[in-house]
Amino acid sequence: MPQSSTVRPAASPPLRRRAIAAVRRWFDTASELDDNDPAADRIDWLRALPFIAMHLACLAVFWVGVSPIAVAVAVALYAVRMFAITGFYHRYFSHRTFRTSRPVQFIAALVGAACVQRGPLWWAAHHRHHHRHADTHQDPHSPGQHGFLWSHAGWFLTARAFRTHWERIPDLARFPELRWLDRFDLVVPVALAAALFGLGALLERVAPQLGTSAGQMLVWGFFISTTVLFHATVTINSLAHRFGKRRFETRDDSRNNLWLALLTFGEGWHNNHHFFPGSARQGFRWWEVDLTYYGLRLMALFGLVRDLKPVPAWVLARAAQPSARG
Ligand SMILES: [Zn+2]
Ligand SMILES: [Zn+2]
Repeated sequence: MPQSSTVRPAASPPLRRRAIAAVRRWFDTASELDDNDPAADRIDWLRALPFIAMHLACLAVFWVGVSPIAVAVAVALYAVRMFAITGFYHRYFSHRTFRTSRPVQFIAALVGAACVQRGPLWWAAHHRHHHRHADTHQDPHSPGQHGFLWSHAGWFLTARAFRTHWERIPDLARFPELRWLDRFDLVVPVALAAALFGLGALLERVAPQLGTSAGQMLVWGFFISTTVLFHATVTINSLAHRFGKRRFETRDDSRNNLWLALLTFGEGWHNNHHFFPGSARQGFRWWEVDLTYYGLRLMALFGLVRDLKPVPAWVLARAAQPSARG
């Protein structure tokens, strides 16, 4: 073959290096990464294995069975973590729509990290980029540009999307505790899974009438709850840029969708949010249910957060106009 002098041996070092790097990145996201690699825009399947395994682990429900307590824990963990994603990863870290103390900021980041949606800095950096380039070719998760599947669960499995873009989050990167959480983003999920396993084992021994077990608590509380939480969250990238009403003529395809708002505690008012991302509230009319905002108001009552940025009067007036679309 003419190019035989340049053909690499069968077990080519680049492939092996890439595999080792991918596995290392499961544990340490600061691991080196070459996003100039031509494969940087393709799914890194080895890196994605834990994500795939999380889905497959849900099937273990056929072995471990179900009990009311396991379902209750799964639902509670969905609710608490959804609030952490919407209230803090999104409205606080990404958009800075209210203020809080450093300890509350850290605890919120910890609970957010338990969602298995990477660290707070990675999440906020990508989300700020989304707002800047929504539904253009630079938006990594635009369903209009890249299709439903890619916008829902493809884009973040590429090497290029793996990186935390520090230049987009200088205000957050100055906190070492957040940088640590972002770098070792597997620590909190593993701790949560272990705690659930331990709780199940304890309940099995001290309260056998509950009918639960270590495996059941792990499968329901961690794998099923986290998988459902993940898919609910990313509907905002995939479905909320496609299905629903457009009240405001924004430059993107964002929509307002009641069902998605209920599922995601208020994020479904996504057209409102793209029109005015600077407010802590995303439901602009009284009937636009926004559980995250109510939760933040409650936290403000207890002094845990403060200075919730309101929706300006001119935006509320526009939202109330009968002529406004939708
Ligand atoms: Zn959007
Ligand atoms: Zn946003």
